[in-house]
Amino acid sequence: MLNIVLFGPPGAGKGTQSKQLIDTFQLIHCSTGDLLRSEIANKTELGLRAQAIMERGELVPDQVVVGMIASMLDRNPSAKGFIFDGFPRTTAQATALDALLSERNSQISGMIALEVDNEELKNRLLERGKSSGRPDDANPDIIANRIRVYNEQTAPVKSFYAAQNKLMEVDGMGSIGEITARLEDAIHSLKG
Ligand code: AMP
Repeated sequence: MLNIVLFGPPGAGKGTQSKQLIDTFQLIHCSTGDLLRSEIANKTELGLRAQAIMERGELVPDQVVVGMIASMLDRNPSAKGFIFDGFPRTTAQATALDALLSERNSQISGMIALEVDNEELKNRLLERGKSSGRPDDANPDIIANRIRVYNEQTAPVKSFYAAQNKLMEVDGMGSIGEITARLEDAIHSLKG
């Protein structure tokens, strides 16, 4: 299986690039943000609890997102692999993901980290906020909080995979097509 963690701060282009890559490599897109937004749209109890947290730009509890990923894996037993987008966001989630995959005789093939300037991130998020309908994209204070949460809680996940020799860094500046081409090269090198 080809299991990729596509990593980067909010606005790095993880969602956009995942959509391109799942077609090329026939992988399943696992975005905890998308899964949570669909819980909110369906007005489930989980969605209602997550909504307030997401609107503040904070992280929903680890066990909630880990549970969502576990059911995603179980719903796709014959998948060729997964792209994890926006997950794991804490080292506890990364440890849980390793355990979920190893229980299924699988593992993470690699983490690909998109590197983007801070100024460019803020501009992309504000631009996305005009059309995404996401309340957490429209407000500069919430964006700043998401970047702070990323630096404090999520950035350490990179060291988690670096320690396993699974980290690849890719330049996330440029056009969508240029970045996709770099990611495709990185994934080909993981496939060996
Ligand atoms: P995203 O679409 O990945 O930017 O996620 C939007 C929001 O959903 C985040 O700001 C968090 O509030 C929540 N969220 C998404 N994924 C996770 C995760 N892996 N752990 C905790 N919270 C998450």
